[in-house]
Amino acid sequence: MAGDQTKFVFIFGGVMSGIGKGVTVASIGRILKNLGIRATAVKIDPYLNVDAGTMNPIEHGEVFVTEDGMECDQDIGNYERFLDENILKDNYMTSGLVYLTVIQKERNLEFGGKCVETVPHIPEEVIRRLNVAAHKTKAEVVIVEVGGTVGEYQNLVYLEAARMLKLQKPENILFVLVSYLPVPSSLGEMKTKPTQYAVRTLNTAGIQPDIIIARASSPIDAIRKKKISIFCSVKPEDVISAPDVSNIYEIPVNFEKDKISLRLIEKLGIKPKSKNGRAWQKLIENIKKSAKPVKIGIVGKYFASGSYTLKDSYISVIEAVKHAAWSLGRKPEIVWLNAEDYEKDSKSLKELESYHGVIVPGGFGTRGTEGKIKAIEYLRNHNIPFLGLCYGLQMAVIDYARNVCKLKGAHSTEIDPAAPHPVISTIPDQAVNISKKDMGGTMRLGSYACELKNGTFARKLYNTKVVLERHRHRYEVNNDYVSALEKNGLVVSGTNPKTNLVEIIELPKHKFFLATQFHPEFKSRPLSPHPLFKGFIEKAIQ
Ligand code: GLN
Repeated sequence: MAGDQTKFVFIFGGVMSGIGKGVTVASIGRILKNLGIRATAVKIDPYLNVDAGTMNPIEHGEVFVTEDGMECDQDIGNYERFLDENILKDNYMTSGLVYLTVIQKERNLEFGGKCVETVPHIPEEVIRRLNVAAHKTKAEVVIVEVGGTVGEYQNLVYLEAARMLKLQKPENILFVLVSYLPVPSSLGEMKTKPTQYAVRTLNTAGIQPDIIIARASSPIDAIRKKKISIFCSVKPEDVISAPDVSNIYEIPVNFEKDKISLRLIEKLGIKPKSKNGRAWQKLIENIKKSAKPVKIGIVGKYFASGSYTLKDSYISVIEAVKHAAWSLGRKPEIVWLNAEDYEKDSKSLKELESYHGVIVPGGFGTRGTEGKIKAIEYLRNHNIPFLGLCYGLQMAVIDYARNVCKLKGAHSTEIDPAAPHPVISTIPDQAVNISKKDMGGTMRLGSYACELKNGTFARKLYNTKVVLERHRHRYEVNNDYVSALEKNGLVVSGTNPKTNLVEIIELPKHKFFLATQFHPEFKSRPLSPHPLFKGFIEKAIQ
């Protein structure tokens, strides 16, 4: 179990979702890390899904994958990027997972005949899991993000868990509320009332916030700070301003304007060990200096939600592009390209020429695939830098098989199970999963080795022989077709040393045509951009 000294900072959300609770958690983690304190972050999702793998990205945003193969919420990606550390599966839980464990224990007679109840048994399981995360990460401070918004039925058991943990060790627990302060255009004034209600709702669960993070379009002024202080029972200096930012990596720096680290040190009773903020400061300066644009198109399909365009489905890809661009002194300009448009009108493919480079990211199912294949064919024929990620690699192989190797009807068995040339197909254990409909958490997930072929572009970019990269897929390049593809000029530059599965392909004569079966975007960090993204942007701006 966690040491008795482990501190837990619970972060709750008030008023509405989508106000950046995850980045707030990540930023607090960064701030603690800059002080030399070992911090980690845990995400609790109140859904009944056992993991995030079965959720549609349009509804829930990107499914992030950890080194140890957990399919989890995109916030884990933010934690990794801000903390610059791998976060493992012990740091993620959903209601589905928590209930599943409790019910399984009941079936195994582990409750010794007792009546098993939502409270206390579910919060107790949550606390057990938090202690495991603290123990395994050896963190001094565990920041816990409680998903959803206070007042929702779904997250009540987590408020209970937080309250119960505080009862066990009051001096080690801190409660933070991230709340939104709207400025209705008809009034032109920032309103604190919704935050007051959120605090009252928390109070009814027995929780009083120690710090309130005031999310709003602009910094909160002294009058509103005082109001929140009086009505929500926190000192004015414990109300931290969190205005909208154009660049999320500035948030830790913004929080420091209100001296959040002093508040944390004092309240948690921790001692800073060093001042490591220089690298982060330099990153921010670098971002500000990056003025000349690099224009990158992303051909996808998980954008639309009613009349709104969402970007969350591809968040790690976007962040990886940013990291690489900034490291080369460029300002990333990312444009969404709808794969289905290329199916309706192939003349629209010409627009691809206006980009420095184009990415075809991961995906599932039929919709948009022909458009992606057409886009890749166009990029290949017009020497436009192309980076394919997972499905992007599979679509690139289909294009090559059909249009260069002349294998008519080449396809992936995910889309056409009876394809005459199944150039992308399942490995045998996946075929069993699919036939049994055993689809939850059964893809090829997490970190696997990739051995790089000498003399290839991939080998040069990584500058090492074997790399570990994260995966999330059920289908693979069919090895029966590799020699045909290679004879026609496609280079397999990375393979898994154990299974010989294709991991990277490239075209040596192209300006940049490289695709990976894994997801390099999951390992890109602002302080250490991914070498493949860097190589791609480097060629794009040449
Ligand atoms: N749908 C493909 C597969 O399952 C690709 C998955 C992905 O892009 N992550 O293999």
